[in-house]
Amino acid sequence: MIESGMRVTAHCARCNHSRTLDLEALRERCGADAPAMAADLAPKMRCSNCEQRSVGFSYTLDPTKHSGMGVSNPYAMAKDGR
Ligand SMILES: [Zn+2]
Repeated sequence: MIESGMRVTAHCARCNHSRTLDLEALRERCGADAPAMAADLAPKMRCSNCEQRSVGFSYTLDPTKHSGMGVSNPYAMAKDGR
């Protein structure tokens, strides 16, 4: 899923804070086969802004990942397609 260029955005229901999850870091920590579905992530996630656990997730395809297959560029993540 990470390799396919999926991007997971966590969105806090309380303070409206949203954040793109670092799936690469998640993979480093949990392994490539780590489950990354909302049901698995939700108990682990907390809003970095208000510390609440009412975090929703949305899944999007990251187009930048498809054009740069196999290229690891941390700055591409930071720019976030903007
Ligand atoms: Zn929040």
